[in-house]
Formats: sequence, C-alpha cells, structure tokens
Amino acid sequence: MYWWLRKRNCKEDKDAESQRDFQIYFSKSIQHSGQKLHYESEVVLWLVDKLLHASREQLSKSFFPVLEQAIGVDSTFESQSPHEDDAVCSLLVPLDPPRGHAFHLEVGTVGQMLADSCIRVELVCTCKTEETVGDMLCFLHHPEEALRKNQKPSLLHTLCTGSYLDVQQTALWFQDFVTPAWEFVPQSHHYRMKVLPSSRSCKLQLTHVSGRTLLVEMMLGVQQGDSDIFVSSQATEAVCTPRTTRALSFSVAEAEFFWLMAKQVPSDSCHLSCLQLCTHFLVGTALSSHILGTVVMHLLTTMPLAGWHRSCFPEQLDEIMWYLDLCLEKRCLDHFFVDNDDLCEEITLPQALQRAVPLNLLQHLVYDPAAHKRAMRELKELKSLLSIQLFYRH
Ligand SMILES: [Zn+2]
Repeated sequence: MYWWLRKRNCKEDKDAESQRDFQIYFSKSIQHSGQKLHYESEVVLWLVDKLLHASREQLSKSFFPVLEQAIGVDSTFESQSPHEDDAVCSLLVPLDPPRGHAFHLEVGTVGQMLADSCIRVELVCTCKTEETVGDMLCFLHHPEEALRKNQKPSLLHTLCTGSYLDVQQTALWFQDFVTPAWEFVPQSHHYRMKVLPSSRSCKLQLTHVSGRTLLVEMMLGVQQGDSDIFVSSQATEAVCTPRTTRALSFSVAEAEFFWLMAKQVPSDSCHLSCLQLCTHFLVGTALSSHILGTVVMHLLTTMPLAGWHRSCFPEQLDEIMWYLDLCLEKRCLDHFFVDNDDLCEEITLPQALQRAVPLNLLQHLVYDPAAHKRAMRELKELKSLLSIQLFYRH
C-alpha cells in the first residue's frame, strides 16, 4: 500500500475518485510548467548563443579560452528559484584552448568523489603552423622581449595559478566581458541584464520588458576527449575548494540520458513530473536534486517504461520514495554513470569511468550518523509534504 494511502487510511474514501483526478491534474499542471520552462530555456539558449558569438569576435586577438556553443543542462526538474515565478536555466559553456595552448585534464579520484579534477594549461609550439594560428609569435620559441612588445600575454599569465586554470579568475573574466558583449546581442533592448555575484560561474538575471525574470547560470567546462563528461566549474560540496580544483560534471550526459528516455517512455510520461514535484520540496534539505535524479535514472533503466504513464503518477512517486528510503537505510546509492552496465550506449563515457569502482553518492552518511539521521528525517518530511500536496490541498 502506498505511504500516503497508509497515512490517510483513517479517513473515509468517499472522494477517492476526485483525489485521483487531482493527482492527474497536478501531474498535468507540472507538465505544463515544464513545457513553459522548456520554451524559456530555448529563448535563453538563443540569447546566450548570440552573446557568445559577440564575444568570439572581441576575444579573437587575445589568448583567453575560446567559448564554444552553450549546452542546456537543466533537466527541467532542477529549474527552481527562490522566487517561484522566475525561470532558472543552467548552461554549460565548453572552453577550448586558445591558439598556441593545450588543455590537459587531470581527472580526480573516486575517493574524492571526482571533485579534485584540474585543467593544466600548456604552451605548444606554433612555429610550423603559422598559417592555421594566424599572425602570432610562438610562445615557446620567440624571445620574451619580442613577445612582450608584440603580443598579448599567454593564458598562463592571465587566468592561471601556476600551470592550472584558476576557477575564480576564469569566472570573473567571463563575468567582466559579458556586460559589454550584451550590447551586441540584437534583442538585448528587450531585457535588462544584471550580473549576479558568483565565484565559480556566471549568473545572469535577465528581466524582460514584461517584468518576467529569467535567471541564467553558466558553468565553464572542458570536455574530456570526445565523451559527454566535462571538467566543470560547478560548485562542489567540499567546504574549502582550492582555486584550481573542479568537479567532473555529468550534467551533459544526464541531460542526454533524459532526452533519450523521453523518446522511449509513454508520450505522457510522469517521470519528469515526479522529479519536479519532489525537487520542489527538497530545496534547503540535504537530499539534493542530484540524489533524486540518480534514483529516477536507476528506476528508468530497471523498471518497465510503460509504468511511467501519467495515470501511474502516485504509484511512481511511491516507487521513488521507496527506493530513496532503501538507499538511505543502506547508506548506499551508486553513481549512475560510473561502472553501470545498464547505461544506454548512446552516452559516451571515458573508458576509465566505465571500468571504475562503483561510486557511492551516500558514502558520507556511513561516517556521519548525525547527517544520516537528518537525511532520514528530511525524507520523512518530504513524504509528508507530498502527501499533503496530493490529498489535502484542493
Ligand atoms: Zn615554436
């Protein structure tokens, strides 16, 4: 029996039918808000694309990282903001090395939850590739004097700490040029743009003339080979993160997984509605949307897809809560993209991750009984809130 049915067992069942209708209505309204967010994500992607295009021209003579086309990585359910009316869009902006430079990724360890990854910057010889690199002097083989007089400094002298790309300096550099570049975006007069404070990413607040606000968070990342994995500036859970340390980001792989699933689940599937509803109540708790997303990804690959039909909304919410409960009890939830045989082959992972030892996302709860107790309490509260939302609100 479902936990919310158990909870309301003492109450009469006379309006069971109307409650079921409300669940379907609720699922539909979430789906509608998801579609609205999807539309706004498209608008933001278009605006950011114009912004990055403008920046490429401004940066063409310098040796700052090359900004590639942004990738939308918010899986709809994560779109949330302190103000419910604001849409939040998360984007990843891939960085390529500028001319005469190479990026070498030093991927972190499983023990550190892959959060101790770095981007090492190296100068490369351009003496023999003058045609492809254009009018520039080789950083390695021209005298320092000539370089200083005739050329802008290398990336090692601008955004690096030692030989490593500095997270904070790179974020601040990106924030600094966004404001002047915004003037070159054709539709910029429709929006008022404000850069919000952030030490690891670039957060923009775009206010449309209608008053509607879009919040955009852009993370900067370097792709690992040709995989769907990036070393990214997204915030890590570590309390004190060195300025050159980044997390391994699976957000592109995750967005691709949900896109692939959308083509396979029933046309009016409720999996995103379930995620969006649960995530809404998780704000401010230790149970992150990443944990919840991982639970749903595991369920999507292990349960019959027909079971995600919208009419099964309460059953699937129950399944998600049951799985989360089980994981918290065991203090174990395997990372979805590490050593997972159930993963679709369309998602490209570095070989090292395919063969890595499983990564337990709840490892910290093994050593921290207080955190475990808090997580169990928050799960209980989440169930209670969902129960109220589903049965008593209308
Ligand atoms: Zn050279």
